[in-house]
Formats: sequence, structure tokens, C-alpha cells
Amino acid sequence: MGISKVAVIGAGTMGAGIAQVCAQAGWNTILYDAFPDGLERGMQRIDAFWNKGIAKGKTTPEQKALWESKLDAENDLAAAVRDCDLVIEAIPEVLELKQRLFQELEPLCSDETVFATNTSSLSIGAIASVLNIPSRLIGMHFFNPVPIMKLLELVRHDGISDTTVKVAEAAGVAMNKTTILVNDVPGFATSRLGVVLGNEAIRMLADGVASAKDIDTAMVLGYKHPMGPLALSDLVGLDVRRDILKNLQTSFDDDAYAPHPLLEKLVAENRLGKKTGVGIYDWSNGEAKETDLPDF
Ligand code: NAD
Repeated sequence: MGISKVAVIGAGTMGAGIAQVCAQAGWNTILYDAFPDGLERGMQRIDAFWNKGIAKGKTTPEQKALWESKLDAENDLAAAVRDCDLVIEAIPEVLELKQRLFQELEPLCSDETVFATNTSSLSIGAIASVLNIPSRLIGMHFFNPVPIMKLLELVRHDGISDTTVKVAEAAGVAMNKTTILVNDVPGFATSRLGVVLGNEAIRMLADGVASAKDIDTAMVLGYKHPMGPLALSDLVGLDVRRDILKNLQTSFDDDAYAPHPLLEKLVAENRLGKKTGVGIYDWSNGEAKETDLPDF
């Protein structure tokens, strides 16, 4: 099955990036969000990314105009997914929310439409279980920032069809990604390691092992990570990371995955990282700056 029209549901950090790469792949792309403000912010983020590309000489105004012509914002869910070959979900990391969305989507789409979830940690099988055609759902786990990161982690559950896997693999190639195929185990091949490292770095920060900058520098220079685990947690979003840890804690029934109290406190104070301007670091002038941490 070829793809010509795609809908992306959720216009946040990930959804906006996914819609951008879909438009760049040449597909007619519809971006939808349950909240008008969220949709507008997502469209603005894509526009800013393309403008930055022009300013840096990495793309041309003509190319941007072509991509723009492929992308539309839509406030109505039924209109957004009408005649779509692929629908990619990027709403918050809460199982019931995602299940409810896919239940709502199924009667709005044809039986051939492939559904993908960008979940970082939830069971793909559990999400698929609410569908009449569970074989149509796959995990398509993108990385942040989506237009830059090469990896696309595809996650298959027991009831998936070969066609769904093939469509997702072909979509990955069209989006210029390298795909890996992983079984439906909580945290897949990426998130499990990523959040454990981030949570441990937060524990070390709380224990006074070193400053945030020095913990990050340790991993950048000592282990050749492109970014330290604390800065990366702020980039991903501390709420997103906390939710993943909680899902792993429940799925594995293991408190080793419990979010550190400092992480919980930062989230409770809406210090979510780069997206709110402050998290572990202060990002108000675009760069990671050390700042006071709350008591927890
Ligand atoms: P986000 O909070 O930035 O964006 C979520 C968007 O979904 C918001 O704009 C919100 O208004 C919208 N939304 C909420 N409920 C909705 C609904 N019912 N229908 C439509 N839109 C709705 O979150 P994010 O960081 O983009 O994460 C989205 C998903 O991607 C999560 O499952 C997360 O685990 C996963 N993910 C995140 C990252 C990351 O680095 N942030 C990386 C990989 C995967």
C-alpha cells in the first residue's frame, strides 16, 4: 500500500516534528490537536524550523513553499483523518488517553488505514486491544528533535499484520529514517535505558555528587554522549520522562524505575524543561544555565 495522505494527532514537541517530516516526505499531511493553542504552537514551531533552515542556507524558500503546500492544520478530528493511509498519534503518555483516541479514530477511517502510536513506553498490544482491527496498529517511536534524529524504532505486538510492518518500514525510509524492529516489551530498546540514566543522574544531582553541568560534562566527555543526561531530560520534557518511569515501574512491578522525588517535585512545579523555559536548568535565554533546585 502506498501512502499519500497522513494525519498526525497531537501537535506538541513530537507531533509537530512528525508532521514536518511527513510533509517533507511529500505526503499530504494534516496536523490535529485537541487544543487550538496547541495546534497553533505546533504549526509555528514547524514554520520556525523551516525559516531557520533557510537562514542557515540548508534549505531554499522554494523548498519551504513546497513543504508548506503539503501541510494543513485541522481542528476537527473526523476531517483530519478522512481518507488517510496512515494516522500517527503523538498525544500524552497515558494509556487510557491513547486507547480512547484510537477507539474514536477507528470508525472515522477505512479498514486499510494503518495506525501508529509514538508512545515511548506503553504496551503496543494494550493500545491495540481496544481496536476492532488490532493488526493495523504499530509503534512508531520517533526521537526528539524529529527532523534531525535518524532513528525510528518500530514496535510490533503479537497480533500485528505483516502489511502493517511493511507500511511502517516504507514510511520510515520515505521520512529518511533508519528503522529498527523491536518486540513489545515495556520501554522497548531505547526508552528503558534512556530514562534509567536520566533518573540516576537526577538522583546524583539530589545527592550532591556534582553540579548539573559537571554530571552532564562527565557523560559528554567521558562517555562520548552527544548531550548529558540532565540536559537531555530537560529537552525531552521532565513530565514525559516521569510518565515513562511510572509506566515501567508498573509494567515491571519494580520500584527501581520509580521517578526520583526531585523529578516529581520539578514536574509538580511545572518545571518541565526546555518547553516551559525551566526544568533542571534555566533555558530562558536558549542555553542550559544552572539554577536553584526546589526542596523535595
Ligand atoms: P507534548 O505534551 O509536547 O504534546 C502533546 C500534545 O497532545 C499537546 O499539544 C496536547 O494539546 C495534545 N493532546 C492532548 N490530548 C489530546 C487528545 N486527546 N487528542 C489530540 N491532542 C491531544 O508531548 P510530546 O513530548 O510531544 O509527547 C507525545 C508522545 O510522544 C508521548 O507518548 C511521548 O511519550 C512520546 N515521545 C516523546 C518524546 C519527547 O522527547 N518528548 C520522544 C519520543 C516519544
